[in-house]
Amino acid sequence: MAIDTDFQLTKEYDKKYCMQVFAPLEVAFRKGKGIYLYDTAGKKYMDMIGGIAVNTLGHSHKALTAVIAKQSKELIHCSNYYYIPERSELAFRLCTLSFADKVFFSNSGAEANEGAIKLARGYFYHKGKPEKNEIITAKMSFHGRTMGTIAATGQDKFRTPFLPSVPGFKYVEFNNFDAIKEAADDKTCAIMLELVQGESGVHPADVEYIQNVRNFCNAKGILLIIDEVQTGVGRTGRMFCYENYNIKPDIMTLAKGLAGGVPIGATLCTEEVASGFAVGDHGSTFGGNPLACAAANCVINEIGEKNILANVNAVSSYLFDELSNLQSKYNTIVSVRGKGLLIGIEFREGISAAGMRQQLFSKGVLVSAIGRSTIRIAPPLIITLAEAKKFIAILKDILKAQKKNPLPTQSGSVADSTQPTMVMPMKAPN
Ligand SMILES: *Cc1c(COP(=O)(O)O)cnc(C)c1O
Repeated sequence: MAIDTDFQLTKEYDKKYCMQVFAPLEVAFRKGKGIYLYDTAGKKYMDMIGGIAVNTLGHSHKALTAVIAKQSKELIHCSNYYYIPERSELAFRLCTLSFADKVFFSNSGAEANEGAIKLARGYFYHKGKPEKNEIITAKMSFHGRTMGTIAATGQDKFRTPFLPSVPGFKYVEFNNFDAIKEAADDKTCAIMLELVQGESGVHPADVEYIQNVRNFCNAKGILLIIDEVQTGVGRTGRMFCYENYNIKPDIMTLAKGLAGGVPIGATLCTEEVASGFAVGDHGSTFGGNPLACAAANCVINEIGEKNILANVNAVSSYLFDELSNLQSKYNTIVSVRGKGLLIGIEFREGISAAGMRQQLFSKGVLVSAIGRSTIRIAPPLIITLAEAKKFIAILKDILKAQKKNPLPTQSGSVADSTQPTMVMPMKAPN
């Protein structure tokens, strides 16, 4: 087999010059089309993770790339010193589609959540109750990587190397309403939850739990922050996941899928809660710039015009049916969870998620491994039924082979340090 020089150089420079915080698969991509990606050697992969629930419209979508190209030729950035037509339009669209009356734009999920945390505290500060500043979040949650959002995240491992942590957070068991009632007191300003815990294994919240929390917040004057960074913008078959729960949050955050791959974050709230930010209280240099907002407007427009939510629901129910068939046929799958096109497949003890991810990868399918034994799929929302069928067939082949030949429990993607040294054919900027 020919050496993929392009990839070897990319890898070598990554190891040498990039901070080593990721553990990437042995591949680099050059282009994509629809739900497919093509690596540096031209090999085709089915992208069942969509850049972690980001590539809403798949890769190199015709309308989205046209909008980005056009906007980049007109105006990419001008700062928030001025009014921005694309931002006004996007804010209008998001407020029309959701419970919200006002939006603040940023550049990532963590930033959207920072905004939500600040807004909840600012709301009570401006009401003359600065002592009301504690936020209850769930164990095994994930809210981002900034100092504020690792403090909000209910998992020690994200905080421990970076202590001291931002104070004012309490963690309670997820899907346990009594735990929330016990933890809340006069200092509680907000309860912050995901409706499907994405990063810790795809665990959906129970409907009754969320409705109880909503009623409790109303009774106690506590704000409900729903982190829809992963579940928002059609991912779960509704425009926003909270619609599945028949509740309305006070604050909601969006990011991942909102602009189809262009970085963006959004913190949405009611008119009442928007009083938590006075002029000068919050800001962002890039947030809400014309390029990101034009991309997001296109994504939202496509979801509406192409009836993409109906597609999400159709493909989702097909996948859940087929995965539960596989579960009853092969005892290797112990649980299938999620909503819409955010699905976790948990394998029995002894079968590693990393190993499954590697097996799928070697058959040209991309998924993510979360925790020890769960793989997550979050494909582009434009995935067709035929493509979903292909995925199921490939997974089935692996499960079948596994029955005969049990999988090794460790990932095969061990970094190879014996690559020949080559010179990156890059020109220095002049
Ligand atoms: C991904 C994610 C975040 C963090 O988003 P970034 O864009 O990586 O900062 C926050 N909350 C949830 C629920 C997420 O899935």
